[in-house]
Amino acid sequence: MVATKGYAVQSATTPAAPFAYEHREPGEKDVLIDIRFCGICHSDIHQARNEWGNSMYPMVPGHEIVGTVARVGSKVKKFKVGDIAAVGCMVDSCRECASCKAGEEQYCDRGETLWTYNGRDKQGNLTFGGYGDHIVVDEAFVVSVPKNLDPAAAAPLLCAGITTYSPLKHWGAGPGKKIGVVGLGGLGHMALKFSHAFGAKTVQFTTSANKVEDAKKLGADEVILTKDPDWHVKHEGTFDFILDCVSAPHDVTPYMALLKRDSTMCTVGIPESPIQLPAFAVAAGRKSFSGSAIGGINETQEMLDFCGEHNIVSDIEMTSFDKVNEAWERVIKGDVKYRFVLDLKTL
Ligand code: NAP
Ligand code: ZN
Ligand code: ZN
Repeated sequence: MVATKGYAVQSATTPAAPFAYEHREPGEKDVLIDIRFCGICHSDIHQARNEWGNSMYPMVPGHEIVGTVARVGSKVKKFKVGDIAAVGCMVDSCRECASCKAGEEQYCDRGETLWTYNGRDKQGNLTFGGYGDHIVVDEAFVVSVPKNLDPAAAAPLLCAGITTYSPLKHWGAGPGKKIGVVGLGGLGHMALKFSHAFGAKTVQFTTSANKVEDAKKLGADEVILTKDPDWHVKHEGTFDFILDCVSAPHDVTPYMALLKRDSTMCTVGIPESPIQLPAFAVAAGRKSFSGSAIGGINETQEMLDFCGEHNIVSDIEMTSFDKVNEAWERVIKGDVKYRFVLDLKTL
C-alpha cells in the first residue's frame, strides 16, 4: 500500500484537517503520481458539505491534479518515471458500454464512472483525491500536460477546463456564433478563454462589478453586469448558445429569452437546489435547456493539447493547506481570481 498524507473532511460540518490514509499498491497498469498541485473546485465544497446529498466520509477532495510520475506498473505504456501527469474528475468506468466506447466515460451507461474522490471502487474502498501527496490511477485515466504549460496553472484545466471546453465544442462555439458565459468564477473564466480562442463573439454575464474589466482582458467582447436594471433587454433573441457556470441557485429564465430560436442554454453549474423553468421559456422559440458533465478522457487530452498550442492556462492564486478552509470561504464569496491551487509542498 502507498502511505499518503493529505487533508480530509470527516463530516458535512467539520473543516478540512490533516489525515493519513493509503492508496492501493500500484498494479501492472497503474501509475503512482507524486502530486505537486491541486486546484480547488467549487464541487469540492459542495461535496465536502454534502450539498448534493451523496457524500461519503472521510473525504479527501480534489480533482484538478498535476504531479510527477513516481512509479509505473509493468504494463504501463503511456508514462515513465519523471513525466508530468494529470488526473481529473474520474479514475475508472466500465469501459465496455456504448458511452464508454464513445469516449464519454463520464456518462457510463452502467453508472460505473468512478469519481476521483467521493467514489467507491469495485473492492468497496473509498476513492481519495488530490488534497494529498500521492494518487494511484490506471494509466487509461491519466493524461499528459504539455511541457510548455506552467503545471500549477494547468491543474484547473483538469476540471474547470474540460467542463467548459466540452460543451462549447459540442454546441459549436466558433466564428460567426454569439456565445454567452454566465458567472465569472473558476469555470466561467475558462469558458471565456475557450470561447474567445474558438473565435466566437463572447459575452460575459457577471453579478460582480469588480470583474467587468477583467472579463474584457480575459477575452469578452462585451460584459453585462446583471445587477444593472434591464440588463437583458437589448440582447433578446441574439445568442446561439449560453453556458451557465454559476454555483448558487439563481433565475435562469431571463437568459432563455436571450437565445435565438432553436438554441440551447446549458448548465455546468450544479447548485444544491432544483432549477426552475417556466414551460414558456422553452416552448417559445423551441429552445432547449441542457446540462453537461466534465468531458471524456480523450477529449481531456485534446483540450490539454489545445491549451498547449494556444498557451491557455487558468488564472490562479496559489494557496497552502493551512489556509484551505479559508480558501473555501473565499470561493463561496467569489473572492478569488480565478482559481485557488494548493501547492503540495505546503502539506
Ligand atoms: P466558482 O469559482 O465559485 O464560480 C461560481 C461563480 O458563480 C461566481 O464566481 C459568481 O460569478 C457566480 N455566482 C456565485 N453565486 C451567485 C449567485 N448567487 N447568483 C449569481 N451568480 C453567482 O465555482 P466553480 O468552481 O467555477 O464551479 C461552478 C459550478 O460548476 C459549481 O456548482 C460546481 O460544482 C459546478 N461544476 C460542475 C461540473 C460539471 O461537470 N458539470 C464540473 C465542475 C464544477 P460572478 O461573480 O461573475 O457573478
Ligand atoms: Zn471540479
Ligand atoms: Zn460504461
